[in-house]
Parts: sequence; C-alpha cells; structure tokens
Amino acid sequence: MQRIVDGVWAVNLGIANIGVLELPSGGLALIDTGGNGSKEKIAKALSSKNWQLEDVKHILITHGHYDHVGDLEALVQVSKATVWAHQKEARVIRGLEPQQLAPDSSLNAFGRFLKRMGQPPAKGVVHKELQGNTNLEVIMPGLRAVFLPGHAPGQLGYYLENSRTLFGGDFCVNILGLRAPIAGFTTDMREAKRSVAVAARLEPSNLIVGHGQPVLEVAAGALERLAQKLKS
Ligand SMILES: [Zn+2]
Ligand SMILES: [Zn+2]
Repeated sequence: MQRIVDGVWAVNLGIANIGVLELPSGGLALIDTGGNGSKEKIAKALSSKNWQLEDVKHILITHGHYDHVGDLEALVQVSKATVWAHQKEARVIRGLEPQQLAPDSSLNAFGRFLKRMGQPPAKGVVHKELQGNTNLEVIMPGLRAVFLPGHAPGQLGYYLENSRTLFGGDFCVNILGLRAPIAGFTTDMREAKRSVAVAARLEPSNLIVGHGQPVLEVAAGALERLAQKLKS
C-alpha cells in the first residue's frame, strides 16, 4: 500500500491500481477492484494495515472494464459492501452488455491488437447508480464523483477535496508520462480529451490513475500540460 496522504492509499495490483480510503465513520472504501483473481491480493494488501475484507464498506467503481471490476461479486459476498458506479456502466459491470471499445476503423493494427486483448468483464454487482458529478459526503466528507467520460461512457473519477486527491480511473494513463487513454480501449477519444481538460480544472495535487505511478503534489501542472497538448 502506497500512502498518498493520511488515510488514503494506492495499491498496485499489477494489472491496475486501486485506491483505499479509511472512512472517518470506521471501515474502508475501495476505488476499483483490479482484475480477475484480485480478491486475495486485496486481502493481502489490507492485512499489512491489520484490516480485512470485512472492513470494506463501500466500493467505488471508475468504469466497467475488466481490469477495474475483477472479483467484484466475490468481494461483495465477503464484505457486504455497497457498490457505486455510473448508471452508464452498470449494465457492463453486471455482465449484461459488452464493453464499448473503439471501432476498429478508428484504430491502427497495434490498436486493434490491444483491443482484442480486452476480456469480457466478469458478472459483477452495482447497488447505487450515479448519474454524473455527485456529492458523496454520505460516504466521506469532501468526497465527490467527477464525470470524466470518453474512455468509457460512464467513466467517473473520485475526488477528495480536503487533500485535492483525484482517483481518475482511465481518463488518462501515466505511462512514460501522463497521456491520453489507450485508443483501443477508449469509446470516444474526443470526449476523453475533453475530460482531461475537466480534470485539469480541478487542479488536483495528487493524481492516481489506473495505469502507472501516482503523481504526487505536482498533478495540477502535469494535467494542465496534457490538456494543452491534447487541445492542439
Ligand atoms: Zn479502462
Ligand atoms: Zn484500465
């Protein structure tokens, strides 16, 4: 578990990063759940702080791609956690609809190759469907969902106002620097680029995305530079 600020951690599960929030009311919230087989990895990470899966009260999903909702049903069975996600991702997360990836015509050969690597999501659970920007003080003071669509139609970030920390899902990636999400896995790249500008306007200090290292303290400048680059 990598400490971001007090009570906030990022955990690299290999396939993707997840977030762990310590709730003032007791217990934990997870942001995303990694890929298939992640339940044991999450249990192991939590045990390093003497927590267990039963401490998880809420699971906040950024979007329904298979590398963000792994083992969701199994995690809910153990923890009885409440799962939150955008309404537009709910059917994908429940396994009722395929992921909406980029059309082949918009991709080069490498992009089509990456797209084929995407696996169908496992059958998951959503209890609370969000519609967009949403105040989530009911879970934790200063927490809100930020609508950052494009990579997926209902992609959400989760923002902690007190520490200016944004868990962004895949609205961008941090692979050799911050950059636009991977085209083969992105539903609408134009919208995704607009979401980078939306995230930059939050001026977060800390940014944790699904793929790549957390950006600590200097996220606002890095995001603003990416937003400018994607505009031109
Ligand atoms: Zn994704
Ligand atoms: Zn991802």
